[in-house]
Amino acid sequence: MKAGFLDIEIDPTLDLFHEIERLKKEKNAILLAHYYQEPDIQDVADYIGDSLGLAQKAQNTDADIIVFAGVHFMAETAKILNPNKKVLLPDLNAGCSLADSAPADQFRKFKEKHPDHIVISYINCTADIKALSDIIVTSSNAEKIVESVPPDQKIIFAPDKNLGAYLVKKTGRDMVLWNGACMVHEIFSLEKITKLKTRHPNAKFIAHPECEEPVLRLADYIGSTTGLLKYTQQSDATEFIVATETGILHQMQKASPNKTFIPAPPNNSCACNDCPHMKLNTLEKLYLCMEYETPEIQMEEELRKAARKPIDRMLEISARYGL
Ligand code: SF4
Repeated sequence: MKAGFLDIEIDPTLDLFHEIERLKKEKNAILLAHYYQEPDIQDVADYIGDSLGLAQKAQNTDADIIVFAGVHFMAETAKILNPNKKVLLPDLNAGCSLADSAPADQFRKFKEKHPDHIVISYINCTADIKALSDIIVTSSNAEKIVESVPPDQKIIFAPDKNLGAYLVKKTGRDMVLWNGACMVHEIFSLEKITKLKTRHPNAKFIAHPECEEPVLRLADYIGSTTGLLKYTQQSDATEFIVATETGILHQMQKASPNKTFIPAPPNNSCACNDCPHMKLNTLEKLYLCMEYETPEIQMEEELRKAARKPIDRMLEISARYGL
């Protein structure tokens, strides 16, 4: 498959929602979708979540096939946890600028320069980087996990420098940061957000910790994608300016139909706060990958085992804290 996805014409009269439901039952398949997927995919998913929720769900499923509507490193994580299951990704080109910002060979050299440090990596990284890490974190559990490391233990944090800087501030730990970032979360315009806040004085400004520090300084609440969603449900406010990928607004609006959600504006006129990688998955590609059971995530067993250890540590620590 040259293109990384199945490029087959689909009968336009086919009800894809119905077909996907049928395929799920026939093949004992579970469809996991990230909050940043397009609304149609979220609506047909069995489970919608952020990286931590999706990893936990992937660990506990009885399904024979895991269909992962997200990006490559997420489907890889599902495969690492489920070597005997078939893991499908509708489009293998669905990468991640943050994961790409940490090439394994360069990271290995960086690690060698800090031999007395352990490596804590954000889950948004490749299996190769996971294999070079001691503990994986997500934005939901990162703070607790960093705090659980003995205070005299030196730490490298990779690959997201913004989340790393946020954690340094929150935990007071002096971590060595890898210089990576997410293209979507670095695009927000401080000036436009300030103007928007002035026009909507009662709106709460909420942001994901992958955003840059000056943007985070303006926020009324900072949290993981799930944390942001919960905050909008529990808050008395009725208006929110949301600085993360726009896909989450679909769930926010569904959970609180009477509240208003405004995507934080990017610093140019494009829709750059839509993740172009996440949005490569479409309902059509999803249907085709379930029907033909390809593209499938493949991984060498040695790499899989090495990448599994730091994920298991994350899941253990998360379970201990009830996260
Ligand atoms: S939003 Fe950023 S971190 Fe998430 S998949 Fe897209 S590029 Fe990667």
